Amino acid sequence: MQKFIHVAQPDLGGNEKAYVNQCLDSSWISSSGDFLTNFENQFASYCGVKHGVGTNNGTSALQLALIALGIEAGDEVIVPTLTFIAVPNGVHYCNAKPILVDCDPLTYAIDPVQVEKKITSRTRAIIVVHLYGHPVDMDPILKIADRHGLPVIEDAAEAHGAEYKGQRVGGIGRCGTFSFYGNKIITTGEGGMVVTNDEALAAKLRLYRGQGQSPKRRYWFPVVGHNFRMTNLAAAIGLAQLERIDEALAVRACLASWYNEALSPLQDRLQLPHTEAWARHAFWMYTVALRHGGEVERDRVMEILSHSGIETRPVFYPAHVLPPYAENPDHYPVATRCATQGLNLPTHSGVTREDVAHIATTLSLALS
Ligand SMILES: *Cc1c(COP(=O)(O)O)cnc(C)c1O
Repeated sequence: MQKFIHVAQPDLGGNEKAYVNQCLDSSWISSSGDFLTNFENQFASYCGVKHGVGTNNGTSALQLALIALGIEAGDEVIVPTLTFIAVPNGVHYCNAKPILVDCDPLTYAIDPVQVEKKITSRTRAIIVVHLYGHPVDMDPILKIADRHGLPVIEDAAEAHGAEYKGQRVGGIGRCGTFSFYGNKIITTGEGGMVVTNDEALAAKLRLYRGQGQSPKRRYWFPVVGHNFRMTNLAAAIGLAQLERIDEALAVRACLASWYNEALSPLQDRLQLPHTEAWARHAFWMYTVALRHGGEVERDRVMEILSHSGIETRPVFYPAHVLPPYAENPDHYPVATRCATQGLNLPTHSGVTREDVAHIATTLSLALS
């Protein structure tokens, strides 16, 4: 039978099983324990900041960051239109309004020029997303945020270990949020984290994560909080994953170089991923885009790949085409085009050089 090449797949070949067994043997399976503390501290430190607050998923990490920053009804939060739905949803959960912004055609990152145009007297924060593992150009964003006194949240769910001018993403803005879902660069099954250098913000994140319970007085709730806690079990897997994150990133860099080489003859028909000179791309997903044709043609190519045992994903539908956030697509021409022409190729440690050759041959036939 033909091998099926999945688009994503976790690599659990380290201490994951041993650490989970330690949780079971010690009965520390709920939301406190050494694995949780160690994972929070070590992941924050990996991002170059002091505080890590683990959560039950990446969506709650984002929502928690917005709550802790005081986002409330009637506020506006700037977000990229081309991103995963969790981003505008997080703003929506706060009864605030996500203000959509178009993207860069090469890196898919939010366009700083458009960000500034969308700021109003109601704007309270800017969320940037390091999409598919390529970092956002942070300096212009930070400058705009500074000028208007706005906090920047980095959604780094897809970019663990990516670097902007030598600095790890997630640790550059006021806070960074991560997901450890099963298809991310490192995983805890389900899980997330907010990292920050801001001690007061970290205290608020912990308060709102744990039902709003006062750290000084049990069963005293000064605010309405949530249960967004991460389990020690999930953190045990996360810690084992973090021990091998350099390897995980090296595997992805190697895979990207194989793809670049194998697909370079197709460059007249296929746009390959772009990496800015200042960037370390984490290659969560190796993403290509058709140069000619739209969604119908892209879907046809994906169908051919699928019949050859190759799973792919379409680039995210931008928020502005989805029913809850629908707006005129003409206002977001770049994201609209990226979303109809782009697809993610299999990117994980199980993809071999032979698989890459097979994918390149199939793509070449599909595009001829
Ligand atoms: C995966 C992802 C999230 C949400 O993470 P979950 O853990 O699935 O809730 C948020 N933002 C982006 C950009 C993501 O890719």
